Formats: sequence, C-alpha cells, structure tokens
Amino acid sequence: MFLTISTSGTPENPATDLGFLLHKHPGKTQRFSTSYGTAHVLYPEATEERCTAALLLEVDPVTLVRRGKGKGRGGAPDAALAQYVNDRPYAASSLLAVALSAVFSSAMRGMCKARPERAGQPLPLRIEVPALPARGGAELVHKLFEPLGWTVTVTRIPLDEQFPEWGDSRYVRLVLEVPDGKLTLSEALRHLYVLLPVLDDAKHYWVSPDEVDKLLRAGEGWLADHPEQKVITSRYLSRRWSLTREAMERLELVRLADADDTDIDDLDNAVDEESDTEEKPVPLAVLRREAILAALTAAGAGRVLDLGCGQGQLVQALLKDTRFTEIAGVDVSMRALTIASRRLKLDRMGERQAGRVKLFQGSLAYTDKRLKGYDAAVLSEVIEHLDEERLPALEYAVFGSARPRTVLVTTPNVEYNVRWETLPAGHVRHGDHRFEWTREEFRGWARQVAERHGYEVDFVPVGDDDPEVGPPTQMAVFTQGDKTDKSDKSNNKSDKIDANDKNVKEVRAA
Ligand code: SAH
Repeated sequence: MFLTISTSGTPENPATDLGFLLHKHPGKTQRFSTSYGTAHVLYPEATEERCTAALLLEVDPVTLVRRGKGKGRGGAPDAALAQYVNDRPYAASSLLAVALSAVFSSAMRGMCKARPERAGQPLPLRIEVPALPARGGAELVHKLFEPLGWTVTVTRIPLDEQFPEWGDSRYVRLVLEVPDGKLTLSEALRHLYVLLPVLDDAKHYWVSPDEVDKLLRAGEGWLADHPEQKVITSRYLSRRWSLTREAMERLELVRLADADDTDIDDLDNAVDEESDTEEKPVPLAVLRREAILAALTAAGAGRVLDLGCGQGQLVQALLKDTRFTEIAGVDVSMRALTIASRRLKLDRMGERQAGRVKLFQGSLAYTDKRLKGYDAAVLSEVIEHLDEERLPALEYAVFGSARPRTVLVTTPNVEYNVRWETLPAGHVRHGDHRFEWTREEFRGWARQVAERHGYEVDFVPVGDDDPEVGPPTQMAVFTQGDKTDKSDKSNNKSDKIDANDKNVKEVRAA
C-alpha cells in the first residue's frame, strides 16, 4: 500500500525542499514502526527540478486481525477484518491515512523548522495512489477532490486484466494534481488524511468520540464549505450518527461564523449612515461594550470570559483596563479567533500584557473545563446564533458547569426592529440570527435560567430606551444568589448528612 507525493522546483525554490517540509531527508530511506506495520519513506527522485517522496506501508495482517478482534469486543467488530485474507495490505485505506499522520505529523500541521517560510506557501503538487478502494466509484472521487482545487484523474482497475468481461474492481488508480499557488503541503496531506478513509469506507478501528476533533482539525479551512460534507463526515465517522451530527453541527457553526464578517456592527454602521445629516449617534456596538464594561466593573470582576468573542473587540476593550487581570476569549470560529489575535497583536504583545489574555477555540454547546474559575462571563450577541433547541446545552455549559459569579447576556430586542429604518419589516437583524426575542421572551428565558441555577437576574436596557418598543439591545445581568443558589443548597444537604453521621456516631458511642 503506498502513495507518492511529487513537486517541481526552480534553483531559487528547489524541489528538494520537499524533504525539509516533510521532515524526511531525501538522501535516506527511513523506517517507522506504526501500530499496524512498518512505514517506509523514500525518494525515488530528488533533484532541483523534481522531487518525489513515497510512503510505503507494509501492513502486518496478523496484527491487524488481532487488533481488530481486541477492539471488537468493546465496540463494533468489523467482520471483514476478522479474516486473514483481505485487501488491507495492498490498498490505500484508513491505515495509510493513519501512517500519513504518524510519519508526517509536523508537515500536516504546517510546521517546518528548517524552512518556516516555505511551510505556509503553496507549491505545485502531484499525488499518486496506485490502488485506492473507492466505494462510490470514480464519480465520488471527483466530487471529493475537485472542490478542493485538485485536477483528478481516476483510472478504473479491472478485476482481472486477462478477463476484461469480468468488469472493474472497486479499486482505482488516483492521480491528483494542483498547480502552484493553490494548496500548501499541509492542506494536501490533510485532504488525504480525511478523504482516503472516506473513499475506503471501512475503518479498521473503532471510532471514538475524539475522532470528531481529529476530523475538524484535519478539515480546518476546507471541510466546512465542502459540498460533500455530509458524506465525508458520516463515512469518516463510520456512520456513527451521534458523532456525525455533532461534527456537522460544529462545522455549521464554523461556516456561519466564517461568513460572519459582517455582524451586527455593519448593520449599526448602515444605520449610522442613514442618519448622516444629524449628529452621528454612537454605534450600538460601542454602547453595548460600555454597558458590559460598566456591569463588569460594578460586579468587581477581575477574571473575565468573553464567550463567543468574535473578532475580539470586547477583549481589546477589557485589556485597556487594568482592573481586568485575566481575560479569555472563546469562539467556535478559528477564523474569528485569527482576526481577534491580529487585532490584539498577540504575537507582538509584551510578556506582562500577554499574560493577561488568551484566546481559544471552543463550542458553548459543550461543557468545557477551561471555562471554570472565572469571576464573570459575557455572552454578547451570541445566544441568538444558536438554534433554540441548543440553548439548554449552552445554559448548562455556562450556568451549570462553568458557574462564574456574574454572567452578562445581551441579545437584540426584536420589538425595536420596527425602529430600524434599514430593516425590512419582519426581518431579523442578521442572516445568522436563529431567533430574536421580545423583552418578555428574553426575560422569561432568563428568569427560568436564573431559577434553575441559583442566580438572580436584573435587566438593563442598552441604547435608546423607546417608551413603546424598548431598547435595541437587552442585557440580563445574572448574579449568583446566596439564598437560592443550588450549590449552596447541596452544601447544606451535605452539612446535614455530616451532622447525621455525627449523630449516628454519637448514638453508637452512647
Ligand atoms: N461577542 C461578539 C460577537 C458576536 S457574533 C460581539 O458582541 O460582537 C456571535 C459569535 O458567536 C460569533 O463569533 C460566532 O462564531 C460565535 N458562536 C456562535 N455559536 C457559538 C458556539 N456554539 N460556541 C462558541 N461560539 C459561538
């Protein structure tokens, strides 16, 4: 089972740089032992003009069977693998993908110590996989690779060359080519890492929940927009529906967030332009940040989480005030975080300042240990980006698990929409808003959340508080209530139990 990766070069950018990018010297043949056999990396050609690296995986069918059986007990055994005779040693498959990630892990992550400037650069590439099991046929191979910029040549392999009437096997020979300027080596390797097993559609190992993270990491920058995302996700995760659903949801968030360059700020600006003749009003986004900063200060919060921080405007404002000693921005969108990190100039920040701030990727629909231990959390214009049926998950992650003393939630007040001159009647303010609530709806939700998790809640209008329709933005300030706090209740309960225990002991002693 093998594949080759070739590139071409010039005297300034010699093709042999491929050796640096892959972290494997072109002059040597190297062996690596992997869980299923031995992987070899060798270079059939290595000149300034052309360089080809070959990855050859010698699968040990006995190990494969043993491992297949061992894993099968706990989960779903793949019956086809519980045989000593199968195509695994010869056909590119999930095994090759695993070897690829084991042997070229730095290259996959786009890291290159010797030629850091080259790692991020696109280069001309040609990849050949002589025997690829392709369930779904040549057509699917085209559909998977072409949207990513590859020119795809698929040659069907007959079952037996001597008996063409027997028809084609399910294997194809695949050649992928891309001219310079389109893809980096890291992207190419990540395409293969995901799509080879997708085409094979027969994972050799039991798919565990962390496969979703692996898929999203390898799919960064291309999977969220791939037209065949559903097939890719479901096959990659061996059709485990719950994992597929989770992956699809997370990808959808990434996609929406990436399309989210124009959020509410743009709308605010559009509204500003409308009223150009009058004195320019302060944009709503600025008013919102001021209201948030005031509420955080009033709460005496030092360590603050900005959940769904987007492009980092609030994090930036928080950093300017030294009362905020630790600031963490969390968002599901890598793209938003990259922009935020550029805005904050994280890479050029002094050590002291950098020690106060961090940005990390995370989804608020899942509990996350990293969110614990803060004084306050802000959800500024975030809840309306989640489907309403996902709100209980967010509620639990923030109020049930992270449990900061103070939580601020802002969201549009839909009643105010009639006051936006630029907003057609019945429209929400942003294409990605899943819902917009009236004051009553928001308060109803917030009161229930407070009740369920032992918080008290107050409501603060943000922006012009219209006597009829209320303010454009509504903010809820949740504070952990001493009296109603459930965790306090449970403490009391444990006190009682201790007291009872003591009684028991005392009784016994007596
Ligand atoms: N808080 C910022 C950005 C609001 S836009 C502001 O007030 O301007 C909404 C942000 O929420 C986007 O950046 C989007 O990526 C993020 N988001 C949406 N759903 C999310 C989720 N489930 N987990 C984490 N972030 C999410």
